[in-house]
Amino acid sequence: MTEQALLELACSNCGAPVQYESGEVVLACAYCGTVFMLEGERRSTLPASDCFLLPLRVGQDEVRQSAQQWMATGFFKPADLDRRAKIELIQAYVLPVWAIQAQGRVDWTGTVLTTSDESHRHRDNKVSSRFQRDFYWPVLARLLGGEVFGTDALKPGGLAVRPDWGGFVLGGKLGQLESEGVDLLTDGKQVQVGELGLASFDVRGLGEMKVLHGQMDRKQAEQQARRELVKLLEKEAREDAGRAGARLLNSDVELDIARTDLVYLPVWQLVYRYGRKAYRMLFEPRRAEVVAGEHPVGVWDKVLVLAGLYAAGAGVLALLAHFAAIDELWYLVAGAGAIGLVHAVVTAMGHGKDG
Ligand SMILES: [Zn+2]
Repeated sequence: MTEQALLELACSNCGAPVQYESGEVVLACAYCGTVFMLEGERRSTLPASDCFLLPLRVGQDEVRQSAQQWMATGFFKPADLDRRAKIELIQAYVLPVWAIQAQGRVDWTGTVLTTSDESHRHRDNKVSSRFQRDFYWPVLARLLGGEVFGTDALKPGGLAVRPDWGGFVLGGKLGQLESEGVDLLTDGKQVQVGELGLASFDVRGLGEMKVLHGQMDRKQAEQQARRELVKLLEKEAREDAGRAGARLLNSDVELDIARTDLVYLPVWQLVYRYGRKAYRMLFEPRRAEVVAGEHPVGVWDKVLVLAGLYAAGAGVLALLAHFAAIDELWYLVAGAGAIGLVHAVVTAMGHGKDG
């Protein structure tokens, strides 16, 4: 963990000390729940009517169950992972997310190619259409990664499954899985704000949940949302034109941001131990689904990877020996097989030391 200088200010509502790190600009008082925004020397209070909490839908038991299921399935995991893993910590964190209510309107024009029956002439016919979309768009107010493991997997392309091959370099990126992105706020559905079951942000209801401060201010969040939504609407304009059989010439996107709330979203973090190493997992709050997880790699997976590599090498040599009729190569094929066997046995035996 990197040592960050801890700063402190007094809550302007209750006077309690609020500790934060440099770079954090959205701070919640752990005593009274007042949320401040820092802008250089200036400090302003976010009205309580703009601060919400998504209640936790699942508890520690569901998280434990989901973890065990994850350990028992998937590739490159030790066969006894779910039985031997010792769960050491299950902790809920609350992440600040800017939730932006916006409406997008798109006007597009395109051309449809038509061929008249009599003259067989091609003609471009202009078509145009418009559509409108409402959004409640989340922008995480924290930088990805950092204190809570796995938050980078909330975005598409972040690592959702991270196998630990230990010192076994041949494993490389085998078994790594990228995330398709997880929308903690609306669960990827187009829902009305009222359907989300948001509660007003009240620290008395947080229990053992740890509230994290935000590093992105409201203005930055709105700019990011605007960029993401315009891109999304332009893509939808192309798709809309495609459905109409048209080639898109031009799309005009207008986006109005109606309001921006700060929604605190809970996530579960779990730490388990297997052998001498600790591994971490992150869960979303609705069904305790795994957002990201680390796991050790089973020794037989390493042996299999090795055997596969040697078999591939031996196979190439055998093909050469056969088709080029180089008999001497058959010795190399046998040699590769023998070395592979020894390497695999050494790997299997060495596993007990680092595992
Ligand atoms: Zn306070």
